[in-house]
Amino acid sequence: MTLIVGVRYLAVSGAFAFATRTVRPGLYSQLRPQIGREIGWSLASAAIYGVPAGIVAWGWQARGWTRIYTDPVAYPLWWMPVSVLLYLAAHDTWFYWTHRWMHRPRVFRAIHAVHHASRPPTAWAAMSFSPLEALTGAVVIPALVFLIPIHAATLGLVLAIMTVMGVTNHMGWEMFPRAIVGGPVGRWIITASHHQRHHDRYRCNYGLYFRVWDRLCGTDHGLGRFDDATDRSSVRCASVSEA
Ligand SMILES: [Zn+2]
Ligand SMILES: [Zn+2]
Repeated sequence: MTLIVGVRYLAVSGAFAFATRTVRPGLYSQLRPQIGREIGWSLASAAIYGVPAGIVAWGWQARGWTRIYTDPVAYPLWWMPVSVLLYLAAHDTWFYWTHRWMHRPRVFRAIHAVHHASRPPTAWAAMSFSPLEALTGAVVIPALVFLIPIHAATLGLVLAIMTVMGVTNHMGWEMFPRAIVGGPVGRWIITASHHQRHHDRYRCNYGLYFRVWDRLCGTDHGLGRFDDATDRSSVRCASVSEA
């Protein structure tokens, strides 16, 4: 499973880094040493993610553990989209609160500083976490498959959304059209513009997929920009002293 997670990371991050070279030539040209560190931390995280995933995959196949099912009619068909939403909502909730906790100053320095060492983040930063942070992320889906029934293919969709959003939210440009990001959908869904502001300002925009918790808790500071280096560096100085 470690190998699968590692190869999946390299393939998806590599694809979007390639797309970045086409769409925003030169965006990563000054960031080679940082990208090397992002890949190193991400592959270490892949090793950690692979352990609970491997145990669960073995338990599912060999022991019949988990609530993963393969017969499409074992549950009503409407359950498939509902289960995807439930998984994303549960993952988002876990991420929001653990992420907020990781921004407490002492915890930040011990656990989360590695992720914020990417300034600005790139498509390779999707899994650039310290081992402890990787552990908090690695247990979520393996725990959920014991609680919420999900079809194997639908679980694959959840993992695909998780991987692609993790990469695209860090890649330094917005791939969704302005009409979506600035429209009613963008008010509730997190894309790169939202997470960019987290990397610029630190203590806001903690969510993963949805803006619901940020909005409820008053931590949603709107969408970031990708073109204003002055704004980014001045806010970053303030944020570093806060963190
Ligand atoms: Zn991030
Ligand atoms: Zn953070």
